[in-house]
Order: sequence, then C-alpha cells, then structure tokens
Amino acid sequence: VDNPSKLTLISGDTDIMVGVNLGKFQPQKIVDLHRIREFTCISRDNGLITIGARATLSDVLDNEEVRRSFPALTEAVRQMCSTPIRNVATLVGNVCTASPIADAIPPLLAYDATVVVQSIKGTRQVPLRDWFKSYRKTALGHDEVIVAIEIPIIDCLASFEKTGKRKTLDIATVNSALAVQVKKGHFETVRLFFGGVAAVPFEAEMTSEFLIGKEAGEAVIYEASRIAAKEISPLSDVRGSLEFRRQLAANHIIKHFTKLMPSLFE
Ligand SMILES: Cc1cc2nc3c(=O)[nH]c(=O)nc-3n(C[C@H](O)[C@H](O)[C@H](O)COP(=O)(O)OP(=O)(O)OC[C@H]3O[C@@H](n4cnc5c(N)ncnc54)[C@H](O)[C@@H]3O)c2cc1C
Repeated sequence: VDNPSKLTLISGDTDIMVGVNLGKFQPQKIVDLHRIREFTCISRDNGLITIGARATLSDVLDNEEVRRSFPALTEAVRQMCSTPIRNVATLVGNVCTASPIADAIPPLLAYDATVVVQSIKGTRQVPLRDWFKSYRKTALGHDEVIVAIEIPIIDCLASFEKTGKRKTLDIATVNSALAVQVKKGHFETVRLFFGGVAAVPFEAEMTSEFLIGKEAGEAVIYEASRIAAKEISPLSDVRGSLEFRRQLAANHIIKHFTKLMPSLFE
C-alpha cells in the first residue's frame, strides 16, 4: 500500500457509517476486514482470553468463557446497542473508535486488557491504559491493524454501570467499571475507570488509592464515592451537567459495591 494513511479500515461499519451518513466523513479507500476468518476467533490460552478483531459484540456475549471470566465486560456488551447492531459491530471497533463514552472500554481497562497490533514491521502489544492519547486519538499507527484484544483472567470482583437518558438502547451519560481484589476483608487492588467524564476514558486513581489497604465497609465506600465525585472534572453538555455527572460517578461507586459486596450494606 503506497499511502496507508488514506485507508479506512472497516469492521462492523456501525461507527464509520454514522459519520458517512451525516456527511462528516468521506473515506477515500476502504479496507473491509470482514472475511478474515482468523480474526473472528475467541480463544483461551495461558491464563488469557484473546478476542479477535472481527469478533462481534454478539460473539462476545455468547461466549461462555467470556461470560464466566469477565462478567463486567459481559454486562457492558449486553447494554450496548440493539441485537441487530451487536450482530455486526465488533469489540475492537468500540476500542478503536475511542469514544469517551464507549461502553466496552471501562471494563476492558478494569480487567487490564492489552491491544495486539500488527503491521508489516511485526506485532506489538499496547496496554489499553496507554492506548488513548487524546479525544478519539489512539496509539494505532497509520500502517497498523488491531488483530485482537487480550484479557488476563484475574480472580477479582468486577462490575459495570451505565447511566443514560433512557434505560436501554441509549449511549451513556456516564459509564464505569470497577475491579477489586479483597484479601482478609481489606482492599488489595482496586481498578476504577469512568467514561463520559473526560476527553478520554478516565482512571479514578485518587479513589483507588484511597481504598487500597482499607478494610471494606460502608463508611469507607461512601467516602470513596465522595472522592470519586471530586476527582473528576467533566464537561457539561446535552447529556448532563458537570454536577449531575459528579453525582452519577458517586452513585456508581455505591452501586458497584452494593452489587459486589451486598453484606457490607446490611
Ligand atoms: C444504533 C447504534 C447504537 C449504538 N449503541 C452503542 C452503545 O450503546 N454503546 C457503545 O459503546 N457504542 C454504541 N454504538 C457504537 C458502535 O456500534 C460501537 O462502537 C461498535 O463497537 C463499533 O464496532 P464496528 O465493528 O462497527 O466498528 P467500525 O465502524 O467498523 O469501525 C470503528 C473504528 O474502528 C476502526 N477499526 C475497526 N476495526 C479495526 C481493526 N481491526 N484495526 C484497526 N482499526 C479498526 C475503524 O477504522 C473505525 O475508525 C452504537 C452505534 C449505533 C449505530
């Protein structure tokens, strides 16, 4: 290929076509990844689940290994789009679009996923937390294609939350995912990510650091929810004001822990 920067890769085409239909984007040359059979595979090996670039959201949802190992990702995908869109849209397309409100991204970050990228120069692996450079800009080079997402199978409690204007079939105002490991009643690791609160998916590091080492309890979780609300500085837009998004972020923390550790709230 003479000039790879002029190529547009398409997979399910559910994001690209929105821009084309609105007249905002006119691809010059299209490379359709549709028929690359190897890309559709979801496999498990060496403590990792590898989701191929052409695996659709429905493939992800239907996969028993994924459902068992990554319930927060499964929940996110279940709440995405509608069945007809999920039947063609891919997980990798969601990661590539890099929308700050993409639903699959917070759980993939919470599970510490890695993006596997290939070009004629070879293959490289980019931790998803290093993937997002600025608003909808990623670490993908012009001559590269994503071949898969790898997710390590970690023994943790994990949850996904999404709040939109409607309960279903809506994009998120704020979404979030939390993965925690608890040892002897104390938080050992905490990975907390929000969408819809910044130009790129946001890691709530202050909240996580506050929780790590603390004994799990209702008061600690309420304090964490206040820290999360202060830690983010979202923009106000048609989907919600800064104050509303802060309140949603705080509510999400309570909802995550109510689901994951209900006995703390009895
Ligand atoms: C009606 C509707 C509802 C939706 N609802 C939701 C929702 O609830 N939540 C949500 O998060 N999203 C939603 N979306 C957005 C969209 O469906 C998802 O982002 C989807 O996962 C995109 O996947 P795709 O395969 O269609 O991507 P495509 O449109 O094919 O591609 C998206 C981007 O990824 C790039 N790309 C694709 N594959 C590769 C690859 N292998 N290597 C490198 N680059 C690649 C493309 O060049 C493009 O930039 C919705 C879209 C529609 C139309």
